[in-house]
Amino acid sequence: MQKRRWIVTEAAVWVVVLLLSMQAVIASENGTTVYHGNTKSKIFHQEGCRYFNCSTCKAVFSNRQSAVDSGYRPCRVCKP
Ligand SMILES: [Zn+2]
Repeated sequence: MQKRRWIVTEAAVWVVVLLLSMQAVIASENGTTVYHGNTKSKIFHQEGCRYFNCSTCKAVFSNRQSAVDSGYRPCRVCKP
């Protein structure tokens, strides 16, 4: 009886560990798919580009396709 309860507890711990690691993967994927679009020149940049936080880069896209669909073209410097 005592041993069975311990096994259930161990299984619950593994489920929590699994869920936490899955959340970490999802979070890191979201972190790499942010683009800023320059509303004036209609050019979008990826994170790390020197123009990423420019004064007219106010449009935010969660993925590359939505930026292209909105009429923006990729920057020649950062090549998003
Ligand atoms: Zn750029």
